[in-house]
Amino acid sequence: MKKTKIDWCDSSWNPVTGCLHECKYCYARSIANRFSSKEKWTDKGLIELNERVYAEKSGKTEPYPYGFKPTLYRYRLDEYKAKKSSNIFVCSMADLFGSWVPDSWIEEVLSACVRAAQHNYLFLTKNPQRYIELQNKGKLVIADNMWYGASATNEQQLMIATKAFNNINCRTKTFLSVEPLLEDVTVSEYWNDCLNNHLVDWVIVGAENGNRKNRVIPDRDWIRSIAFDCYDESIPIFMKASLEDIWNGLIQEFPKELVH
Ligand code: SF4
Repeated sequence: MKKTKIDWCDSSWNPVTGCLHECKYCYARSIANRFSSKEKWTDKGLIELNERVYAEKSGKTEPYPYGFKPTLYRYRLDEYKAKKSSNIFVCSMADLFGSWVPDSWIEEVLSACVRAAQHNYLFLTKNPQRYIELQNKGKLVIADNMWYGASATNEQQLMIATKAFNNINCRTKTFLSVEPLLEDVTVSEYWNDCLNNHLVDWVIVGAENGNRKNRVIPDRDWIRSIAFDCYDESIPIFMKASLEDIWNGLIQEFPKELVH
């Protein structure tokens, strides 16, 4: 578990890394590939590591020995025991709920969360339908400290997220991460369709970091529209520091359950 620069959580924990979504703006891929020993992972599929891999020259632990290939680090599962309660972003370097991830990996991670229930766990995926599939199999852990989030950078992903949340058990904590904001989206557009009346419990919004060619800089009105939608429904909104140049006086609200 690591202290993180991500401003809406206390730390990140990566028992699984790697992702096959291929988002152009992905920062995780460049970090993982930079620290990998590339020659090792060219023809590997899913990777499970029960023990650390050490670099031959330095003798130090390799954080991403197989780069951005989907990898389960089983030895990391219980590394946070007996730590003070905190808000943990689970798998900031992966999509734990990607279609390629075996149920067994997810179950191992969720079980580890259950074993250390002093923390709040925040998950994010671009494949929120997987929450519903796991729920239907009785494998999704529903508890007050388990926060299931969906990433949506455009209208289409927003629709997918809302559809999934509309089918999730209404006791589940959910949140929406509109980051990086790539176009003008109406976060409330599909909320009216919520059959179980379960809107999201939190909205995070942010802009793309870095200097990628064609980087999208959000319009101030796009952010205002999201802020108003949240305000209308009394949903806390967290504006990431990446919006600082666009929005004076960032609104950084947390759900009361995540305040400590
Ligand atoms: S979903 Fe996240 S981790 Fe996966 S490629 Fe996109 S930005 Fe990277």
